[in-house]
Amino acid sequence: MLNSRASAFKFKEGQIYLAKSKEPLPIRWSRQLPTGCTPSTIMVKLDPSGRWFVSLKINDPIDHKLKPLDKKVGIDLGISSLFTTSDGVKVSNPRHFNKVYKKLRLAQKSLSRKTKGSKNTEKARVKVAKIQAKIADCRRDHTHKLTTQLIRENQTIVVEDLAVKNMVKNHPYGLARAISDTNWGELVQQLTYKAEWYGRELIKIDRWFPSSKRCSNCGYIADKMPLNIREWDCPKCNSHHDRDLNASINILAAGLAVSVCGATVRPEGSKSLKAGAKKQKPKS
Ligand SMILES: [Zn+2]
Repeated sequence: MLNSRASAFKFKEGQIYLAKSKEPLPIRWSRQLPTGCTPSTIMVKLDPSGRWFVSLKINDPIDHKLKPLDKKVGIDLGISSLFTTSDGVKVSNPRHFNKVYKKLRLAQKSLSRKTKGSKNTEKARVKVAKIQAKIADCRRDHTHKLTTQLIRENQTIVVEDLAVKNMVKNHPYGLARAISDTNWGELVQQLTYKAEWYGRELIKIDRWFPSSKRCSNCGYIADKMPLNIREWDCPKCNSHHDRDLNASINILAAGLAVSVCGATVRPEGSKSLKAGAKKQKPKS
């Protein structure tokens, strides 16, 4: 990866020239630069599938803040659905990924059969990388659409702060794929910077908050709530719950409590913090 300061490239009439090069880089722009913007940093990166990426750092002079709204939403990031909002919207994982995964598995198999170091290995390796790149692109696009919509429609968004990477590492392959499919990390990251751009509030709550086990109606906390249970009835108040919707309502309530009292989210019955775990920072 080449990471160059302003001296290593020139920006002229909307084109980028690398140092000592007379020809501008033939760039396919992902979006237009705001007028009057001069990039301060350029980063050039080659991905494993052989594509070059140029990223620019700019100081955007435009204020993108949206008109404030009254709406608040909690989001339960899930597996069977990508996420569920506290206002009852379920967003599913895009199905078309399954087809691409089949292709990926075939390409990986073919790669593993090639003799190491041969020309064909390299060809097979690029093929695998290209499919992986396509999957990553599709995911990112899909996530962008969803996060932009959430930010537009809500003033306050509450999510669980999940250590996704650990979860993926510690689970058998199937579940791990399901988890990374849902693209949690990317989703929370996009919400974080978009909230800042557009003047919205994103509240992240502690990952050990028992959002699934707690009855959002009466506060009863179930002993356990295995992943295969999608609906349940509260033994205390008899409320019938959709697992994910109930969790998202709890998440919203917990997030608002943090935002109002600056409290650490740690309701009764939840596990104590593990050593070294990050505490929820109170919102000021
Ligand atoms: Zn209840």
